[in-house]
Amino acid sequence: MLKGREKTIIHLDMDAYFASVEQRDHPIYQGRPVLVCHTDSVDGVFGVVAAASYEARPFGVKSGMSVFEAKKLCPKGIYLMGDYNKYLHNTKELVKICESFTDQVEVFSIDEMWLDVTETKNRFKEDAGRIAYRLQTEVKRKLGLSSSIGVGPNKLVAKMAGEFHKPGGITVIRPSDLPQILAPLPVKKLFGVGRKMKKHLDLIGVATIGDLAEVPEEYLKKRFGVVGLWLKQAAKGLGDGVLASGRGSTSLMVKSFGHSSALGSGEADIDKLCQILLGLCEGVTRRMRRGKYLGRTVTLRLRLARSFGFTRGHTLSGVSDMIETIYPVARALLLKEQPVLVEYPATLIGVSVSNLLFAEKQLSIFDLFDDRFVRLTTAVDNVKDKYGDRLITRAALLDWRRRYHGVEPSRLHKP
Ligand SMILES: [Mg+2]
Repeated sequence: MLKGREKTIIHLDMDAYFASVEQRDHPIYQGRPVLVCHTDSVDGVFGVVAAASYEARPFGVKSGMSVFEAKKLCPKGIYLMGDYNKYLHNTKELVKICESFTDQVEVFSIDEMWLDVTETKNRFKEDAGRIAYRLQTEVKRKLGLSSSIGVGPNKLVAKMAGEFHKPGGITVIRPSDLPQILAPLPVKKLFGVGRKMKKHLDLIGVATIGDLAEVPEEYLKKRFGVVGLWLKQAAKGLGDGVLASGRGSTSLMVKSFGHSSALGSGEADIDKLCQILLGLCEGVTRRMRRGKYLGRTVTLRLRLARSFGFTRGHTLSGVSDMIETIYPVARALLLKEQPVLVEYPATLIGVSVSNLLFAEKQLSIFDLFDDRFVRLTTAVDNVKDKYGDRLITRAALLDWRRRYHGVEPSRLHKP
């Protein structure tokens, strides 16, 4: 009965993406440990490993590691500087292939995307595993690259499924198999469970996803608010897969940009908090633009009185580095917590943007914004670069700057 409405989602993840592209383009690198680095010069030791080929992994090299560390572990590796324009171009080709399977493609990061193939499956009476196999073969044939695929009833499950057989695997999780497959997995495998959340869950004796699914909803709600409810749903394999924290394998140097502000003995005034949040978002997006990063997942961090902290996240449908996109999302997350804040004033507020894509502006194919905002922001950035950050500020922030930084507003807007 439900079957007709059940969704079939494919998660496609490229294997050792940047390194595989280099091995494809330079056959001499094939079968050898290749490390694509985010650095100014691969002769030096500065910078970070952005991607390691499967041949490099037995040496213990991982993306995110410093080049210095990697060279100690794998001195004979081939160290290359990343050619991000090439990878982005390749990603566009990848999206085209995905779009030949369905018109519903969601790009999650430079090397990961979701495809809703429900229609395709129903129309052609084709098995989901078979569609996944065709997609994987097509990617290999057209781009010469290996990928791992997960199939599930929602984005979350599809992404988790893809983790089971890497590289080059296809894993299909049917809704009826969900409880048996999810339950024994450690709880940290669940998206949205970060290090801090895991600590809390450890304390209450929750070790596996199955344990989490058994915790009474009321308890989770009381302890973690809306996040608790979301986790409970996710542990049962439900929900459309709102990914609360980005663990996208863009494998670039920076994983996230975040700013936070301590609030002394606590702040419960929602207007003040919004104002502070606006200031934080401004700082974060400016740093992103400077580093040429676009991001997808906005995470709000709150610590409440009695040092209870939690995060709330939202993933955008596209990427952005503009405060006009990031702030409304962060604000909406904050407003949802208003009832809690009345009782427990916030002692710290923070915002971060993760799920980053390193991109030259003109290549940001997913940018949400119209040109006017981009031009205005660029103009303001330029003035700030030249004359310092405090010369121009948002009218809405004057009060905040005075209160939290002791700067006189009159000095802010008069050059
Ligand atoms: Mg990948």
